[in-house]
Parts: sequence; C-alpha cells; structure tokens
Amino acid sequence: MRSLKKIGEFGLIGTIKKSAHIEKEVIKGIGDDTAVLPLDKKRNLLLTTDMLVEGVHFSVKENRKLVGRKALAVSISDIAAMGGVPKFAVVSIGIPNSACERGIKDIYEGLSRIAKEFGVSVVGGDTVQSKKLVINVALTGESGKKDIVLRSGAKPDDVVFVTGALGQSLKTKKHLKFIPRLAHAQYLVKCFKPSAMIDISDGLSSDLAHVLNESKVGAVIDEKAIPRAKGATVAQALSDGEDFELVFTLPKKEAEFFRRQKKFKVYEIGIIVQKKKGFMLRDSKGKLNKIIRKGYGHF
Ligand code: ADP
Ligand code: MG
Repeated sequence: MRSLKKIGEFGLIGTIKKSAHIEKEVIKGIGDDTAVLPLDKKRNLLLTTDMLVEGVHFSVKENRKLVGRKALAVSISDIAAMGGVPKFAVVSIGIPNSACERGIKDIYEGLSRIAKEFGVSVVGGDTVQSKKLVINVALTGESGKKDIVLRSGAKPDDVVFVTGALGQSLKTKKHLKFIPRLAHAQYLVKCFKPSAMIDISDGLSSDLAHVLNESKVGAVIDEKAIPRAKGATVAQALSDGEDFELVFTLPKKEAEFFRRQKKFKVYEIGIIVQKKKGFMLRDSKGKLNKIIRKGYGHF
C-alpha cells in the first residue's frame, strides 16, 4: 500500500472512486464539482458536500460568523460551477467540550445570513462531540439539463476565462468573505455555451489541471493576463487556493460574443490546445514554460 503523502489527495480520491459503488442512474459521480443525479425530464439534481476543520480551514481564533458563512459558501460555489442553483442544506457539526453556546450561535448566524442571500434552506444536520470544531455542509442544487457544465467539455481552441483576481486569499481573508460566483455562472449558462467550468478551491494551476485532465486537452496560459490580487505574485495567483473564482472555457465563436458583454468583468487568460502540447505558461517574453501543478492538497 502506498502512503498518502506519496499519492496525495487526488491519488486517494482516485482510489476511492475505484471502490465506490454507483447505480446506472447516476449521471456524474465522483470527479466534478458536484454529483449530477436524475431529477425530472428537464432538470438535474446536484449534490455536494464540504467539510471545514479547525486548524486546517480556519484558525481557532477566527470570527465564528465568518466560519459559518464559509462552511456554506464553499458548497454554493461548487453548485455555481456546475451551472446550477443551490437549494437545500444539511449541516453537521462536531463540537469540542470547551465550546460555548455563543460560538455555535454565531456560526449559525453567519451560515443563515448567506443561506438567505442565496435562497438556501437549512433543513437538518447532526450534532456530535469532537476534539476540534468541524463543520460539514451537504448541499443540493438544481440545474436545467441544458445548463449543466462539466469539467470534461473543453476542446482545443476554446478560450479560457477567470471571474476575478487570484492569490493571497488567506492573507486578505477572501477565503472567508468571498461571494460565490452564482450570478456570473447563471448568466453564462443562460446566455452562452461554456464548454467546461470549475471553481478555484485548490489553486488555478491545480483546478485548471482538473479541467484539462477530464477534457483530455492542454492549455497555454498568458502570464500577464492572469488577474492578480493586490500584492500577489504570479506564482501565488497560480497556486494559492481558496479564491473561489470560476475558471471556464468558451468555444471560439461563443467567446467572440462573450467579449462584447458588459454585465460582468471577467479576464481572458489563455487558450485550450491539444493534450500533447501540455499545460504551459507564456511569460512576458513569449517563452513557453511548463506549468507545474502546485495547488493545495491535503496530504
Ligand atoms: P471540490 O474542490 O470541487 O470540492 P474535491 O477536490 O474536494 O472537489 O473533490 C473532487 C471529487 O472527489 C468530487 O467529485 C468529490 O465529490 C469527490 N470526493 C472527494 N472526497 C471524497 C470521498 N471521501 N468519497 C467520495 N468522493 C469524494
Ligand atoms: Mg469545486
């Protein structure tokens, strides 16, 4: 058996995928931002879950309202990345003995506020004792069958866009305060035909690599076109996690229409190429360098 350090988070998810049972009715199981399940003739049901652990995703001293907010916001971001709208959440919480009612009330206040903003109902959960504070949110969503956007649809010549500035989200606290890009995603799927989409949780290089792997293509990204948060280096914009911006691809013709839209500011950062050309960064002198995936991984 290989160590977790050796195979990493995504190697481990690959192992899990091989041993997980699924029935034929599942439209998309493990391997995208959410699962895609049958709902009715016109709509799919989306299902996703995310866990936040004290000391890993937030510090012990962190404002509890923001922690509660983040616990739901990360799942809303995943539903948005599929072209869906969020619906119902269940919230499970592991609480250390030393915690007090105030802290838990604050978590739910933060969570409820963003739930209201995005039309999500909190309909259940579970409460247990644990060594560290842990919050798990499972969230459903819905999407029109035509609106669904997977990681696997990017084709050579498609144009790559990102919805906002990247890097240093831990330092700036964007990882707690970000607005899930649901409005961008809904506009995109209703008015254009994105071929692939993902939200940036682990870092641009890592998350775009998921799109490239699933779509069996490569990409050339323009270093100077990557929008950087104030003070962030190119390396940080490429590999810092938890920005929760969307990266999406549009076929060349769609991209021509899209460039004329004025509703949202988005950034064109590169182009999809054939797989054999790899995943490359074009520097300011025009030289192509291989992008080494350096996003966040849990092991
Ligand atoms: P995201 O960053 O979009 O939340 P992840 O990188 O966490 O996605 O997960 C990638 C894929 O692996 C998703 O489809 C997710 O549901 C699946 N996955 C992650 N952990 C597990 C697990 N323990 N069991 C089954 N599926 C998992
Ligand atoms: Mg995601």
